[in-house]
Amino acid sequence: MPRYVVGIGANLGDPAATIAAAVASLPGVVATSALYRTAPVGGPVQPDYLNAAVVVDVPLDPHALLACLHAIERSAGRVRRVRWGPRTLDLDILVWDGPDVATEDLVVPHPRVGERLFAILPLLDVHHGELADGRSLRRIAATLDQAVLRLVPVETGRIEHTTATEG
Ligand code: ATP
Ligand code: CA
Ligand code: CA
Repeated sequence: MPRYVVGIGANLGDPAATIAAAVASLPGVVATSALYRTAPVGGPVQPDYLNAAVVVDVPLDPHALLACLHAIERSAGRVRRVRWGPRTLDLDILVWDGPDVATEDLVVPHPRVGERLFAILPLLDVHHGELADGRSLRRIAATLDQAVLRLVPVETGRIEHTTATEG
């Protein structure tokens, strides 16, 4: 069964509640990161984000999982307006345990994961710490500008979630 890490971001409405609901509706969740409060990177002036990452084991190929993530984003009321603008919910496939994907509508590993502390820190909570090309996430994180990102972990507890296997 394929294993994926999905990155989650939200900065409109009630981000913590939106993220908890998203985790509850994701199929096959086996692990969740802490929640991180992060400063926005790129895009217009906008509120801080909450970010998290979850590991999912699902019998879906990457494109089928992407369609599932888009459906969950839509049900959270996401509207796409400005690139990198504020959003109720963003679900990205960060990495998976299969071969690299490079299609027009899907690239895995996520092409910008190595530049983003807000993605790497939650990813490190649930992932062994290397990208498929062998680069260490910890080493990458150390090179990124922590001060500019004003990154603050806000909750050390796990996100509440239920999965089918927990009955
Ligand atoms: P970024 O991709 O820089 O994180 P974003 O998440 O704000 O920006 P979206 O508007 O959510 O961008 O997504 C734009 C498109 O990116 C999606 O419709 C999807 O087809 C494509 N995409 C490519 N690779 C991925 C991936 N690994 N995970 C999710 N979407 C991806
Ligand atoms: Ca994104
Ligand atoms: Ca996205």
